[in-house]
Amino acid sequence: MSLTPPNAPATETTETTETTVLHAARTVPTEAREAVDALRRIVADLHRELTRYSLVVCTAGNVSARVPGHDLMVIKPSGVAYEELTPANMVVTDLFGSVVEGDYAPSSDTAAHAYVYRHMPAVGGVVHTHSTYATTWSALAEPIPCVLTMMADEFGGDVPIGPFALIGDDSIGRGIVDTLTGSRSPAVLMASHGPFTIGKDAAAAVKAAVMVEDVARTVHLAGQAGTPKRLEPQDIDKLYARYQNVYGQTQGATS
Ligand SMILES: [Zn+2]
Repeated sequence: MSLTPPNAPATETTETTETTVLHAARTVPTEAREAVDALRRIVADLHRELTRYSLVVCTAGNVSARVPGHDLMVIKPSGVAYEELTPANMVVTDLFGSVVEGDYAPSSDTAAHAYVYRHMPAVGGVVHTHSTYATTWSALAEPIPCVLTMMADEFGGDVPIGPFALIGDDSIGRGIVDTLTGSRSPAVLMASHGPFTIGKDAAAAVKAAVMVEDVARTVHLAGQAGTPKRLEPQDIDKLYARYQNVYGQTQGATS
């Protein structure tokens, strides 16, 4: 992830054979300006949540947001310290990771974020961290079993493991998409790497990143003390339906 040279190219995928997403925009269209500027602020601010919850060290970790209605995304610059992240140094790229606006190279994980946006149209935000407990499960290549009601609520079941994938092409993005397509979980633990989370917007993806670390820690501790008890599938379904369809439409409370 982000322990890479600051100017590492974000992607090598700009000339893939995919044709479903145009990436001709070389500037931010006028009609997208307001949304892009708002997302620069939102994405810059959301990075503070990663440090607030101790999900990242050094420059590791990144948040991005899709620009609704445009084949654009806003993402963290590569190699810039968290305390130096501002709306102005966020990077706007197309959905192949090519820079459209910005003074810095985009995050070294840009290709993975872009792949997710190209293949999961409902996703509006993506987050990646190496948060300690979630990454512990990645190191073991073990899904986090659904043993807590909050896991049923937020993840609808186990938090799945994705394939081992090397950075540098579409492998990470493909692994995220293949694992999360058809899954209720907004989080995937990429094997030997760490969590990637998705959401309808960047704030939702950040919340999933915070939650996955929280349950990863609790279930790990439970496993040290005994054998955590899996919830019954029908109870998981009921909890998930209630939380997502009823409770989720209230004021967005988290408990
Ligand atoms: Zn990483």
